[in-house]
Amino acid sequence: MSGAVLLERERLTSGTTWHTAGLLWQLRPSDVEVELLAHTRRVVSRELEEETGLHTGWIQNGGLFIASNRQRLDEYKRLMSLGKAYGVESHVLSPAETKTVYPLMNVDDLYGTLYVPHDGTMDPAGTCSTLARAATARGAQVIENCPVTGIRVWTDDFGVRRVAGVETQHGSIQTPCVVNCAGVWASAVGRMAGVKVPLVAMHHAYVVTERIEGIQNMPNVRDHDASVYLRLQGDALSVGGYEANPIFWEEAVKSRTGAAAGLCLKTSTVKGCTVRSDDLRRA
Ligand SMILES: Cc1cc2nc3c(=O)[nH]c(=O)nc-3n(C[C@H](O)[C@H](O)[C@H](O)COP(=O)(O)OP(=O)(O)OC[C@H]3O[C@@H](n4cnc5c(N)ncnc54)[C@H](O)[C@@H]3O)c2cc1C
Repeated sequence: MSGAVLLERERLTSGTTWHTAGLLWQLRPSDVEVELLAHTRRVVSRELEEETGLHTGWIQNGGLFIASNRQRLDEYKRLMSLGKAYGVESHVLSPAETKTVYPLMNVDDLYGTLYVPHDGTMDPAGTCSTLARAATARGAQVIENCPVTGIRVWTDDFGVRRVAGVETQHGSIQTPCVVNCAGVWASAVGRMAGVKVPLVAMHHAYVVTERIEGIQNMPNVRDHDASVYLRLQGDALSVGGYEANPIFWEEAVKSRTGAAAGLCLKTSTVKGCTVRSDDLRRA
């Protein structure tokens, strides 16, 4: 870690991370993802706190996958088997059993659910500041308000392009190694080194409900068929949906004046990104 420098254009978390729902589902159809998620969960729920003495804000409220048809339930049964191989506790529940875990849920049209009690919710600000604390304690440097404006490259005798340094408004850093972690801006940073980053950003809409009595400590919910998730947010829900026809980022930037680099759009500008009221029938 010693010698690593993190250059942040604004403040840590000011990018996509600021908006994240922070849902951590341990069970995914790919074993690589299951292992990565297990690692993330270990770091966020235990190791970072042990190392820094700071709480990351991790909440273990569990996760519930909804099956609205038989095929989806079969898929969840397969996920449960995968979980067994990786030591992830999970249970396939009947609608009645689901009701005992989540009494507020309408379970009339459910085939069942997959319940993963050790899933949870990450706090983006808490996780980032704890990670930064751990990194700086090991010799890394975090420099905020320091946009990268250019990446110097050179071509070696074999015709391979290599990094020579990074330019900023405040000076340059000589380095043979750059990690591009600029999120939705990664393509722009990649272009500075003549690298095409195959990444397409798109809008993602979510709404936060008013206080809901009895919702406290309920698990997060994912309904893959309705393309919607319900995230516990204190005593309210944050409801996010995935669009069949999303608005792409470049398109949205073109249609806006000023603040083109910002991510935070007013609801009125996210036209077309609607969370269907139909998606909310569960809550
Ligand atoms: C509403 C919403 C809900 C989500 N829910 C989930 C979820 O439940 N679970 C999940 O796993 N993921 C979720 N995601 C996705 C997740 O938030 C992102 O994948 C993650 O935050 C990306 O982190 P990042 O560090 O790669 O990018 P970012 O957080 O965007 O960080 C990139 C940083 O690069 C900086 N930067 C850009 N250009 C430059 C430059 N030239 N020089 C220096 N710095 C620069 C930016 O200022 C920014 O801070 C969600 C996203 C959204 C929007």
